[in-house]
Amino acid sequence: KEYAEISIKDIDKVASSSFPLCMRHLFEKLREDHHLKHGGRMQLGLFLKGVGLNLDDALAFWKAEFSQKVGSERFDKEYAYSIRHNYGKEGKRIDYTPYSCQKIISSTPGAGDQHGCPYRNFSKENLEAALSKMGVSSRLMGDVMDKVKNRHYQLACTLTFEAVHASSCDSGINHPNQYFIDSQKILQA
Ligand code: SF4
Repeated sequence: KEYAEISIKDIDKVASSSFPLCMRHLFEKLREDHHLKHGGRMQLGLFLKGVGLNLDDALAFWKAEFSQKVGSERFDKEYAYSIRHNYGKEGKRIDYTPYSCQKIISSTPGAGDQHGCPYRNFSKENLEAALSKMGVSSRLMGDVMDKVKNRHYQLACTLTFEAVHASSCDSGINHPNQYFIDSQKILQA
């Protein structure tokens, strides 16, 4: 599938309009802490590749954050390789694909990890706060939380999509990059 390119200057705007909660959370944590552990770097990094951030922009994006924490020299030495690796430019040169919801939901984040699916991993209070920040009204919040209670995380994400876009999502959400594409389709229509 061909994606339009997203450039680094648009990234904050599209993050707040079109990223699903799992990626929004990683994106915000990265901006806040200037760091993400391995699982978060993989989950967000491959997603960003999937939304069309090219390798040069990806390196610039991660470097701008990480160098505030570890310095640019350490970034170049320890972290740049794995980003090039994700783009198939190092090691076995495999072009790695972004993670599906199923893969993300079944991951097991440890202490200090920010990856995984927030519908599964967040406390009720944190999830409600995050959803309300995304623009889910209190009227629709109960429906989303019901799905979460029954462990239907992708359905909860689908209802969130529908709430924040005021538009239906008949296929349901099964991939963060599908969430992004469907969102952009609606917003650009
Ligand atoms: Fe991300 Fe999928 Fe969870 Fe939605 S259901 S937050 S897209 S992993």
